[in-house]
Amino acid sequence: MTTASPEPSRRANLLDFDLEGLAAFCETLGEKRFRATQLFRWIHQRGASGFDQMTDLAKSLRGKLQGAACIQGLSLLTQQESSDGTIKWLFDVGGGNAVESVFIPEDDRGTLCVSSQAGCAVGCRFCSTGHQGFARNLSTAEIVAQLWFAEHFLRKRFNTSDRVISNVVMMGMGEPLQNYSALVPALRTMLDDHGYGLSRRRVTVSTSGVVPMMDRLAQDCPVALAVSLHAPNDVLRDNLVPLNRKYPLAELLDACNRYLEFAPRDFITFEYCMLDGVNDQPEHADQLITLVRHHGARGVSCKLNLIPFNPFPQSGLTRSPHNRVLAFAKRLSDAGIVTTVRKTRGDDIDAACGQLAGDVRDRTRVGERIAQQRTIMLKPVPGAPATKEGNP
Ligand code: SAH
Ligand code: SF4
Repeated sequence: MTTASPEPSRRANLLDFDLEGLAAFCETLGEKRFRATQLFRWIHQRGASGFDQMTDLAKSLRGKLQGAACIQGLSLLTQQESSDGTIKWLFDVGGGNAVESVFIPEDDRGTLCVSSQAGCAVGCRFCSTGHQGFARNLSTAEIVAQLWFAEHFLRKRFNTSDRVISNVVMMGMGEPLQNYSALVPALRTMLDDHGYGLSRRRVTVSTSGVVPMMDRLAQDCPVALAVSLHAPNDVLRDNLVPLNRKYPLAELLDACNRYLEFAPRDFITFEYCMLDGVNDQPEHADQLITLVRHHGARGVSCKLNLIPFNPFPQSGLTRSPHNRVLAFAKRLSDAGIVTTVRKTRGDDIDAACGQLAGDVRDRTRVGERIAQQRTIMLKPVPGAPATKEGNP
């Protein structure tokens, strides 16, 4: 008598496992742990999506895998390509929700921007994902599947067996440190030499400042860290990044210093979204300099990355004019803080930071909350003329 294979949904999705997890799974099938390494390499290094092609695995093992496991990627809804080579993919994650990933090619690297949640519960004022509210956490498989798909799609596209994606930034939709248990195995798969073999310095987690999880990440899987600062004082940051009310700047910067003891890089990247008339004045730059220089005994070792705000209609905010961004950058640089201005990529396909909309069913009504807050709008800084279009 033959037993039918379980429904695909009842089978273990092998994209959910880091190598350690896959080894444990192999043991449950009565297989030696080292088989997991072979399997892991087939999946992540060769992009296999079925067991038949894994010809160096014993037929008996392949049979067991067919019955108990699957390699289930995300279903692709759309793919858009920018004139600058940026590619954006929209993936269906079920229940009416979708998430996006973006590939950004540069001369010396290929970066994939990966999503960690459908929507986001933090609700930052200037972020399109935040305005949609939160639907759900992605699973490890759904996070890894973005890289698995993109890497093997791009290898085919460029007709190469060499690695195309050299850097991953967790800067897509969602707050990665509010999806910690799914994030860590995904990061380990990215770093594993039998997986994607990415350097710790080239995998960046970006966070709005979930302090306790920053401490855990330092212990569990230290990778490069970017912290979304956006404001040099608590009053302003409370308004722009609501999580600041829970973890104010002093606590956040303490956590940055603790992280630095374990980090693969000797600096934290602070992201600072430049909002016209809101956080882009000389006094903000001066406060920022004082903040990072004089926090704790020795300040915080950091680089500043200024992001020109990418506007979207519901935000009610505009982009700082280019000359104001440059003046802000100069003030920081003159004070000895390494400062860069992020190039906006994929503009023509809405693939820039904060524009990743996906499509999310807001279960937490964060979107509504932000809309209400907008009526208690920030007062523009006196003397700062708001530009009409948000562009220079
Ligand atoms: N939740 C994480 C990671 C995703 S957002 C975080 O907040 O860090 C990635 C980066 O894009 C963050 O620095 C975020 O502040 C920035 N961002 C969000 N909306 C933006 C917008 N409209 N324009 C420019 N940058 C934006
Ligand atoms: Fe969430 Fe980051 Fe957007 Fe804030 S900026 S709402 S934390 S995704």
